[in-house]
Amino acid sequence: MAGTFSERLDEIKRRIGAACEKAGRDPDGVRIMAASKTQPPEKIREAADCGIKLFGENRVQEGRQKIPLSPSNLEWHMIGHLQTNKAREAVRLFKMIHSVDSAKLLAAVDAAGEQTGRLTPVFLEINVSGEGSKFGLAPENVPEVLKLANDLKRVEIKGLMTMPPAAEDPETARPFFRRLRELRDQWRDRSGFSLDELSMGMSHDFEVAVEEGATIVRLGTILFGERQKQANTED
Ligand SMILES: *Cc1c(COP(=O)(O)O)cnc(C)c1O
Repeated sequence: MAGTFSERLDEIKRRIGAACEKAGRDPDGVRIMAASKTQPPEKIREAADCGIKLFGENRVQEGRQKIPLSPSNLEWHMIGHLQTNKAREAVRLFKMIHSVDSAKLLAAVDAAGEQTGRLTPVFLEINVSGEGSKFGLAPENVPEVLKLANDLKRVEIKGLMTMPPAAEDPETARPFFRRLRELRDQWRDRSGFSLDELSMGMSHDFEVAVEEGATIVRLGTILFGERQKQANTED
């Protein structure tokens, strides 16, 4: 992990720019999210000083501790698996939730919004491959969830998120990213939601994700360096 945070960020932006050029996309259509699990408040501050505004946390409990200690102008999203019984606190802490992976959780987020008067923008997490992440909706179950979402007043489906199976070669992830975009195009036409956002791509495969249409890349290791091992990254 060479250089300062700011040098690493510049290099990432250069690589995103090159991927956009290759795909004929506008680089302004890609946001960098710092996936900040396990990073202490000093690291959050350093990232914020370098211009990062968007942060993703995996656990409600960690967000509850860190967000109040961080600069107040940052935007926090929940990106880890969320238990239904923590939906209310997640809605309070986070502006958006990327990891809605069941109808039950969607309904819980909506109910939490009813209580607090908040409309929560969410992403549906899709298990495109049927393997890889153990979380995520099977594609065949999504139309039904979109239908439910149309009846809920306190959630808005902004887009889709996926985590492809881990692999050495970033190209291995390409078919999964592409499939997510194709599913989005298909569901957009049939649902009342524009589904503009695609949350996909991490440290080792973000350029491939950008080429395939990512609007948010979730970057941890490449920004902050290797993490301390975490017992589990779900909430
Ligand atoms: C940790 C994490 C990331 C970032 O992973 P890196 O490989 O370190 O970039 C992205 N998304 C989710 C959901 C994560 O838990």
